[in-house]
Amino acid sequence: MTATLPLEKTAEFQAPDALRAADNKPSLVGLSRTRLAKELAAIGVPEAEMKMRVAQLVHWLSVRGVTDFDAMTNVAKTLRAKLSAHFSLARPEIVSEQVSKDGTRKWLLRMPSTGPLDKGAEIECVYIPERDRGTLCVSSQVGCTLNCTFCHTGTQKLVRNLSAAEIAAQVIVARDRLNDYPGRAPLEGAFVPTDGGRFVTNIVFMGMGEPLYNPANVAEAIGVLTDPEGLQLSRRKITVSTSGVVPEIGPLGSATNAMLAISLHATNDPLRDKLVPLNRKYPIAELMDACRAYPGLSNARRITFEYVMLKGVNDSPAEARALVRLLKGVPAKINLIPFNVWPGAIYECSDWETIERFSQIVFDAGYSSPIRTPRGRDILAACGQLKSETEKLRARARMMLEEQLALGAD
Ligand code: SAH
Ligand code: SF4
Repeated sequence: MTATLPLEKTAEFQAPDALRAADNKPSLVGLSRTRLAKELAAIGVPEAEMKMRVAQLVHWLSVRGVTDFDAMTNVAKTLRAKLSAHFSLARPEIVSEQVSKDGTRKWLLRMPSTGPLDKGAEIECVYIPERDRGTLCVSSQVGCTLNCTFCHTGTQKLVRNLSAAEIAAQVIVARDRLNDYPGRAPLEGAFVPTDGGRFVTNIVFMGMGEPLYNPANVAEAIGVLTDPEGLQLSRRKITVSTSGVVPEIGPLGSATNAMLAISLHATNDPLRDKLVPLNRKYPIAELMDACRAYPGLSNARRITFEYVMLKGVNDSPAEARALVRLLKGVPAKINLIPFNVWPGAIYECSDWETIERFSQIVFDAGYSSPIRTPRGRDILAACGQLKSETEKLRARARMMLEEQLALGAD
C-alpha cells in the first residue's frame, strides 16, 4: 500500500548541506570527513595532504571544539588564513536555554536560513543528566510530517529535514554549553560539571521529527558522531526511535549499527491506526517482522518498545498481556512513558497505580519495563512536548520588519 496518508504533510524544503555564519560563509562544523575533503579540495588543498588535513580538522572541531581557526595550532598559518577566508566555524544559534529544576536543559536552536522566504527554522534539543550517563535527545527534522494524536511536535506546521551537519551540530552545541571538551576554558555561562567525566555519553533520536523520514542524513550524522578520532560516541549508545517506517528499519541497522526504539503505543491495529496514523500504511504485523529482522539483534542488543500510557485508551491489564504476547520471541525492553500533557492535548496520563499494574504484568512475563521518569516537564522538554516557537518568532520578525518599513517610509 503506497497511497499517501490523508494526514501526512510533505517536507516543504530540504536542508542546506552546511551551516552558515552571519556573513554566509559555510561552516565546517558537523561535516563528515568526505564533505570536509570536498571543501578542502575546493580551496586547493593538494590530494596528497588531504587525509592528514581532514584528520587535523576533525580533531580541532570535534575533540577540542575550537571556535576560531587561529586556535588550530598545528595547521600552517597560510592554510588557517585560507580556511577563515572561505569558511566559518558557526554553530546553530542558541535562541534560548532553559534549565529545569531536575537539571534537564532545553535549547531552542535556530538553523541557518535556506532562502529569502526562510527566516531560519527552529528545533529543540534536550540534555538529560543522570548519575551514570548524560543523554542528549536530538531532533532529525524541523517539526514532523506525521500526526500522532498524542504528540505536540506533530501539530507544528513548518516541516523540513535537517542536514547531517545540523544533526551533528546539536551535539557540538551541547558540548559547548556543558563545556564538555578536554582542556578548554569554559565558554561564558557554560555549566561546569563537578564530578569529572564526559557529559554527553548517549544520544537518542527522540526529539522533533521522524528519523526514518530523513534516513540518509541521520545515517551520515551517526557517522560523524561515532568517528573514533572525532566525537567518539559509541554506536551502542545511539538509539534511533521510529514510529514505524518499516522499509527503512533494516537499512538503518545495516548502515549505522545503532540501537532501535519503536514507538508502539498499542497492540492492535484499530487503536494504533488512531494513535500513530502511519500504522495504516505499515500495520503492526509488518512492523514486528521488520523488528525480528533487525541486524545485530540479540539479548545483548534489544529493541526498546516505547509505550505511552494514555488513561482509558491503552492502559488496561488485558493490553499489558497483549503486549507480552506480541513481543514473544523478540529481544525487547519495554519503556513505559507516562503521557506528557501539552496545551490542547486530547488525552490524559494514566493513573500511577494503573501504570504500575501494567508494568508489573510486563515484568512478571520477564521483560524489564522501567517507567520513564518524566524529565524537564516544567520546561516542556519531556517526550512529545517539543514544539519550537517558530510560529511565534515568525510573527515577531514580521512585526519588526513592518516597523522597519514604517521607519524607512518616514
Ligand atoms: N518520531 C519518532 C521520534 C520522536 S518522538 C518516534 O515517534 O518514535 C519520541 C518518543 O516520544 C516517541 O516514543 C513518541 O511516541 C513519544 N511521545 C510523543 N509525544 C508524547 C507525549 N505527549 N508524552 C509522552 N511521550 C510522547
Ligand atoms: Fe512525529 Fe514521533 Fe511525534 Fe509521531 S510521535 S508526530 S512520528 S515526532
